[in-house]
Amino acid sequence: MPQSTEKQTLGFQTEVKQVLNLMIHSLYSNKEIFLRELISNAADAADKLRFEAIAHPELYENNAELAVHVDFDAAARIITISDNGIGMTRDEVISNLGTIAKSGTKEFLAALSQDQSHNANLIGQFGVGFYSSFIVADKVTVLTRKAGLSPEEGVRWESKGDGEFTVEPVIKPIRGTEIILHLKEEEAEFLDEWRLKTIIRKYSDHVPLPVIMKKKEKEKEEDEVVNKATALWNLPKNEIKDSEYNEFYKYVAHDFDDPLAWAHNKVEGKQEYTSLLYIPSRAPFDLYHRERHQGLKLYVKRVFIMDDVEQFLPFYLRFVKGVLDANDLPLNVSREILQQNKQVESIRAGLTKRVLTLLEKMAQDEKEKYTKFWSQFGNVLKEGPAEDQSNKELIAKLLRFSSTHTDQSTQTVSLDDYISRMQAQQKHIYYVTAESFAAAKNSPQLEIFRKKGIEVLLMHDRVDEWLTVHLTEYQGKQLHSVSKGKLDLDEVEENKEVKQEQEKAEKEYKDLVTRIKETLGDRVTDVRITHRLTTSPACIVIEENEMGLQMQRILQAAGQTINQAKPILELNPQHPLVVKLNEEHDPVKLNEWSHILLGQSILAEGGHLDDPAQFVQLLNKLLM
Ligand code: ADP
Ligand code: MG
Repeated sequence: MPQSTEKQTLGFQTEVKQVLNLMIHSLYSNKEIFLRELISNAADAADKLRFEAIAHPELYENNAELAVHVDFDAAARIITISDNGIGMTRDEVISNLGTIAKSGTKEFLAALSQDQSHNANLIGQFGVGFYSSFIVADKVTVLTRKAGLSPEEGVRWESKGDGEFTVEPVIKPIRGTEIILHLKEEEAEFLDEWRLKTIIRKYSDHVPLPVIMKKKEKEKEEDEVVNKATALWNLPKNEIKDSEYNEFYKYVAHDFDDPLAWAHNKVEGKQEYTSLLYIPSRAPFDLYHRERHQGLKLYVKRVFIMDDVEQFLPFYLRFVKGVLDANDLPLNVSREILQQNKQVESIRAGLTKRVLTLLEKMAQDEKEKYTKFWSQFGNVLKEGPAEDQSNKELIAKLLRFSSTHTDQSTQTVSLDDYISRMQAQQKHIYYVTAESFAAAKNSPQLEIFRKKGIEVLLMHDRVDEWLTVHLTEYQGKQLHSVSKGKLDLDEVEENKEVKQEQEKAEKEYKDLVTRIKETLGDRVTDVRITHRLTTSPACIVIEENEMGLQMQRILQAAGQTINQAKPILELNPQHPLVVKLNEEHDPVKLNEWSHILLGQSILAEGGHLDDPAQFVQLLNKLLM
């Protein structure tokens, strides 16, 4: 007998076992979402069938009224969810209900902690899916038959959620999938008509598939459509309640939480489309995962076409969830077609503007909400100026930073705030980049700025390096790193005397500078006197056109070989150490001091020493 006609026992993939374990043991609240997930799968199955049937109408088998039925039998303690959607073949059953194809499963499992409520949230973000059946059931039976196959090619799948499942052939006359949940004793509360209806209306009201339950009336049984089954995005805005927007979001995004904001728009005229775009309130755990599912649900003239369509939004807005229903795209549109379609480009431009405008409005009118948004997605938005030239100015307006004005790691300062506080003669927007907030905040290069009361943006996210490469100007003001090039504070330095003093210092220390430069040899490109320091004896900077030190470190950490720019050592002529050094004539001492000054300047800037042991030795020698 060929294998496929026998009953087979197979093991779940390891990740499935872990997810199942979680479902069974950690999800105490929100148990009712199992129904949302199973109805959502039925709706997906109906969508897939509708899509396939565009080219192959015979797949409907004279039964084109797609719906999902929810029934229960209190005595037998079972709930049945049956659809007449696309169904599954034996191979599909084995792979779909035995493995998890989703990217980022490993990261998801790694992100789980002891904290149950935190876990419940993560599970929500992950999309609990079919396996959520085991939250309430101790045994699940699936009967399914793929559209287009004969009734004998049905499949029966069964599992107790304990690591194994069985598959065997079954005769299934009706196309589609039937899920039978054998409820745990303690979950009997779900065996109740009113309870089930409430759950369906709560989570699945706007799932575009009728959810039908039997209604007993005077000995007669009648079918009742429990949900509205209308595509929410097609209703006029003023007929939609906030709570409906919220629940629809949870269906689209598989999220537990309400969204932070949404934009619902109908565009008419040359091009016609409706979009309902949501900003989630929390970043998903896999936001930085390369193969993560992202993008919109695409419909063409109300027919579902596909999920996770990335082409309609730029990558830096990948956190946006929602639906796009386009009237002018062909029904047989594929991902390949989408990649080169002119209409797609113009819809994408339109949607991008919508999201940016929504954020701009939030930033203006709901500051607290915007701060929440920024804490979750700010780092992604910072990728914007590099990716999207055409909206650079608008994105820049949305950026938030830490700065010496607030001295807080929470990023709340906008470039407009900064400009409004600029000093009369100040021409540039100054910033410093470092590996951490503390390193940025305490950077020696800031000393002169703090003294003069000039604000400096404190950038301490990895992406900031990319950002500053691409965002070099805002509102006609150049962005300028405080650790690059010669410091030219002329613009805020009206005092002639100060200037003369500096020139005097440069003369006075000319000899010392030359000697230190000789001593340090090729560890530095130059040594010079600076006036950017007030309390530190020395600091390192790099040439104007060189790659930032922080960027060098990021690239090196990523395994790239780069031409490491050697730093310039700058000395503070006011500092007692430097004053003392100017009187030091012992070449051995001068050598030791020079290396110590360079070493501490590198450390203060967040860098790594090539020979830390030697630095420690020198230091100890001085301390003795
Ligand atoms: P997701 O829906 O996010 O893909 P699920 O765990 O909910 O994850 O479902 C896993 C897969 O099982 C689905 O992608 C689908 O291929 C298949 N599946 C689940 N339920 C059905 C159904 N009612 N009809 C057809 N296929 C289904
Ligand atoms: Mg699902």
